[in-house]
Amino acid sequence: MVIKQCRALARCSEEPDCTTRTFLSQPMHEVHAQLGAWMEAAGMETSIDAAGNLHGFYAAETPDAPRLYIGSHLDTVPRAGAFDGVLGVVLGVATVEALKGRRFSFAIEVIGFSDEEGVRFKEPFLGSRALVGELTNPSAEILAAIRAFGLDPARLPEAQADANALGYLEFHIEQGPVLEDLGLQVALVDSVAGQTRLHVTFRGKSNHAGTTPMHLRRDALAAAAEWVLAVEQEANRSPDLRATVGWLEVLPGAVNVIPGEARASVDARHPDDIIRCGAMESVLRAGHEIAERRGLSLSVDSRYEQASVSMDAGLTRMLERAVRASGLPAHRMASGAGHDAMIVARYMPAAMLFLRSPGGISHHPDETVLPEDVAAALRIGAAFLEELEASRA
Ligand SMILES: [Zn+2]
Repeated sequence: MVIKQCRALARCSEEPDCTTRTFLSQPMHEVHAQLGAWMEAAGMETSIDAAGNLHGFYAAETPDAPRLYIGSHLDTVPRAGAFDGVLGVVLGVATVEALKGRRFSFAIEVIGFSDEEGVRFKEPFLGSRALVGELTNPSAEILAAIRAFGLDPARLPEAQADANALGYLEFHIEQGPVLEDLGLQVALVDSVAGQTRLHVTFRGKSNHAGTTPMHLRRDALAAAAEWVLAVEQEANRSPDLRATVGWLEVLPGAVNVIPGEARASVDARHPDDIIRCGAMESVLRAGHEIAERRGLSLSVDSRYEQASVSMDAGLTRMLERAVRASGLPAHRMASGAGHDAMIVARYMPAAMLFLRSPGGISHHPDETVLPEDVAAALRIGAAFLEELEASRA
């Protein structure tokens, strides 16, 4: 059922033959209508806040009780799969539906964030930032999009989460090959890796490819090539370090001209900020050494820096007990990708469960999830609510 629902929502798209759904685009209205109907059928009251987040509120036994948030995002990358983000929201609704009207001492609020990927305005996490009260000064184009969607930006402060929040739980596909490789269905996410993005530029001298002897060259691309391998070697030295040179530009870029300039990006991630920063220092040292030895200059431009974020220890232990109670091993891992939970964790205790990604495929139409893993996540969700209730007794 959950898988079918995700596939149905994947048809709400800006493009006819694939799933592309960005922040407050037209098809987001259809998603809200469809999901809202499922939320109401499960006994929830629905609303849409000024940031375009969809809320489904399932009341507690008593009014004014604290609330548990369960959520993820409803926007997608271009040509997306059907499960990144959406699965976490649909699983939240299914978890409430399975209660068949049973109430707890806390309320449950399922939330579908309007933006996590940042595709439309090149600015990610608009939805979860509104929930934590950090979408205070949105750009004029974001305000215009909010109005065009029929919402009132003046009410953005009301999008902020209840001060009486118990915590936030997010189900999400792993989007990588680790769980499949380990033969595991799910994992507890204990942290979201910190990230550094840099651009480096090696500057040498362009010259004629036929007349300049090898020993008189200052080839910027040859230096960059050496540096790309140094980045890879550095990452190989540290088990949880991921470092990627994903972009390279060569100038002037002609077959018969020695490259005078080579620009490259590096994206490095690690759950431990000290290890990540140390590795970046070492990679830059290697760059300077390569440049000096080859008679080039090197400049470095820092583009993005995000510290690693830990999930809440107490809530994660509760989720861990729920995983065990569901008969599964409680494997822990760090997330290499950013998630809404990382933003929400600044405001309330957050915990996160990964579901295995078959083939490790994500951000692609072939992205999928296995029915037995969805069933496991539903068992874990139910057990987690029991754990949370027991912890409050
Ligand atoms: Zn996602």
